Amino acid sequence: MSVSRVNLSMLSSTEGIEMSEQQAIKFGYITYEETVPLTSEFAQNLLEGKIVGKVCNNCKAKYLPPRNGCSKCFSRDLSPFEVSPEATLKAFTVIHFPPESFADKAPYIVAIGEFEDGTAVLAHLTGMTAMPQVGMKIKLVGQKIAQDRVVYKFVKV
Ligand SMILES: [Zn+2]
Repeated sequence: MSVSRVNLSMLSSTEGIEMSEQQAIKFGYITYEETVPLTSEFAQNLLEGKIVGKVCNNCKAKYLPPRNGCSKCFSRDLSPFEVSPEATLKAFTVIHFPPESFADKAPYIVAIGEFEDGTAVLAHLTGMTAMPQVGMKIKLVGQKIAQDRVVYKFVKV
């Protein structure tokens, strides 16, 4: 009797947590931490084709994906900045032996793309029919991989 009462209360509290998590759009294939409004906003912008990071108002360091605080000067005074999705391929590698969670995706390409303002991100490069060339033009796009989950990846322009 007492065991089933405990189970019932645990179920109802878990349901409450799931409800609130469903409202926030998560970013990335795997989310280790709670989705915060900053992450959810970044993911929503991606879906609208906008790449929005944060720039520190004190030391001008740029963060893409955005952060709430600057890791260089520890200021918490940051403002949004937007970059055009077009980027230049700076480096890439082909992954043949992936971590277990990406086993079904291999072989795949991981690339560093640099935007016009010098910021860069690491992401999958998809849609290639030949080996990529450093210096080629690529574009960062958001992709919904689940009802509440968004990732970004580079595609060939
Ligand atoms: Zn700073």
